[in-house]
Amino acid sequence: MEISFAGLRALVTGAGKGIGRDTVKALRAAGAEVTALSRTAGDLESLARECPGVRTVCVDLSQWDATERALSSVGPVDLLVNNAAVAHLQPLLQVTEEAFDQSFAVNVKSALLVSQIVARQMIARGVSGSIVNVSSQASQCALQDHAVYCATKGALDMLTKVMALELGPKKIRVNSVNPTVVLTDMGRLGWSDPQKAGPMLSRIPLGRFAEVEDVVNGILFLLSDKSAMISGVCLPVDGGFLAC
Ligand code: NAP
Repeated sequence: MEISFAGLRALVTGAGKGIGRDTVKALRAAGAEVTALSRTAGDLESLARECPGVRTVCVDLSQWDATERALSSVGPVDLLVNNAAVAHLQPLLQVTEEAFDQSFAVNVKSALLVSQIVARQMIARGVSGSIVNVSSQASQCALQDHAVYCATKGALDMLTKVMALELGPKKIRVNSVNPTVVLTDMGRLGWSDPQKAGPMLSRIPLGRFAEVEDVVNGILFLLSDKSAMISGVCLPVDGGFLAC
């Protein structure tokens, strides 16, 4: 399936590493003008070298005012990927206030703020747009030591649906991808131990974790006109995990 984003402008958060970084590269390869937002300057510098033409914004998305300031100069955006997230793994009885607040600030609150900024501009310009939130299978299935992470992704799924409801009449589609484990830096944190990976793999009918490319393909499909009548969907990219 050929997808072209020529003439469109995209913004990807959490673009320094993992899924966000490869999403930037794929969007660029499909012809989009891309702004990559992340927290570590070195990651953005190396991405800009690898992917000439990509604009970068370095900001900590947990800081509401700093994020608003940083995005004020980004200009119009047609395609938004809210990908940035953190995962603090703690047993339920040891969850800290700091982990809770930082997780909700990055994984939920920043997705709302960035979407507000981008959607207001889309509406003012009278253009159609597409927003993809990167959620997780953890939004719909309880995982050991993932209380806060699961709660943020559950919240993100409902945010996706309300955004689809309220922004649809303005020609803006909103969907999420909900991957299973992907062995990025974040994925390795929870799943590199074979004692944890084994039982998880055994619950995935396709018998493997997702590759970054599997998730990027889902994001590109939902951003593109190939999904023109799809909005409010939380699309598992999980090899069948959530079906069982
Ligand atoms: P990753 O490798 O840890 O990359 C996350 C990126 O987000 C990093 O560039 C990170 O920058 C950035 N980020 C985090 N907090 C930020 C903040 N406060 N401000 C700005 N940027 C921030 O993670 P990933 O595996 O690619 O995950 C991408 C998305 O997929 C996340 O939404 C995650 O929840 C979701 N997901 C991942 C998996 C998995 O197994 N990997 C499974 C399901 C869903 P710094 O490194 O500079 O902090």
